[in-house]
Amino acid sequence: MKRMGIETTFQKFRLGLRKTRESLIGKVQRALRAKSVIDDEVLETVEEILLAGDVGSATTGLLIANIKKRIRDEKYASTEELTGLLHDEIARILHVNGNRETDRIALPASPRPFVIMVVGVNGVGKTTTIGKLAFRFRRAGHRVVLGGADTFRAAANEQLEIWAQRAGVELIRQAHGADPASVAFDTLSSAVAKKADVVIIDTAGRLHTKVNLMEELKKIRRVLDKKLSGAPHEILLVLDANTGQNALQQARQFVDAANVTGIVLTKLDGTAKGGIVLAVSHELKIPVKYIGLGEQMDDLQPFDRKAFVDALFG
Ligand code: GDP
Ligand code: GDP
Ligand code: MG
Repeated sequence: MKRMGIETTFQKFRLGLRKTRESLIGKVQRALRAKSVIDDEVLETVEEILLAGDVGSATTGLLIANIKKRIRDEKYASTEELTGLLHDEIARILHVNGNRETDRIALPASPRPFVIMVVGVNGVGKTTTIGKLAFRFRRAGHRVVLGGADTFRAAANEQLEIWAQRAGVELIRQAHGADPASVAFDTLSSAVAKKADVVIIDTAGRLHTKVNLMEELKKIRRVLDKKLSGAPHEILLVLDANTGQNALQQARQFVDAANVTGIVLTKLDGTAKGGIVLAVSHELKIPVKYIGLGEQMDDLQPFDRKAFVDALFG
């Protein structure tokens, strides 16, 4: 199907979050319709729906506690008002009205090249995300160089090459099995020589529990920093929204071992587990920077917190 050329951010979010909206807020709305007055039973039902929607126990607990407090303090009584309360409290957890500085995904003016390293377990969408990111930066007029430091999987470079061609950017690669740190070094050297604006380094998927593989990430970082002091400037951890609570577990360990500076949550389009965005935002002290809403080139969206909440509530 041919896509519409001009879709607003809200429309993209709305479309991509359809399953989550139905299973999370849709369910809440249906449950509330059966009752007119807010009581403990209604609140328990809402709590169960949030937990089942992968919002996570800590975040759900906070949401429910905040809602109860407002019901008490502000004397809300009807279930009609409860959806509004939930909307407000979800917005609050995401800091929708707060400092939006962390939402800025445009390249900072310096340093150049700005070096982004992408990490995560197998199959979460790292390479696809890099292709989409490269396309965004290229379209914004930046000169982009990709580094194929996933030298572990035989087909990894071919996949990245296809994305590089689609996005119209350059790829630096070495043979299958080469030292990933060496590829990273070559990529950055080439980017510096060509005065590129942005470098994105792909890495092999690795289980967060494998210590030696986490050490390899440190080595890549060391080598980048040796070539350009301060690099990498951004380390994006890619998480697959389908994995629900396990994504949180992965994140905690990567954050400890790999100096993660931002999260990308992919495959939100295919899952009802989008509540994980709330858990990740609230429980990790690291911003969600992008979300993946499909497999096409323009399906990676900067995480717009307001658009996210609005799309969840229809
Ligand atoms: P990697 O192993 O982490 O590099 O993962 P890949 O980039 O190879 O992606 C694995 C699969 O997930 C591919 O089939 C992608 O097309 C798919 N994928 C990645 N991001 C998204 C997304 O946001 N939505 C959907 N529906 N599929 C995605
Ligand atoms: P080691 O291989 O464990 O000793 O770790 P290093 O940090 O010394 O280097 C890691 C990899 O990055 C090496 O295998 C090289 O391929 C590459 N590398 C590091 N420093 C340089 C350098 O100054 N020049 C080049 N060409 N490659 C480098
Ligand atoms: Mg990959």
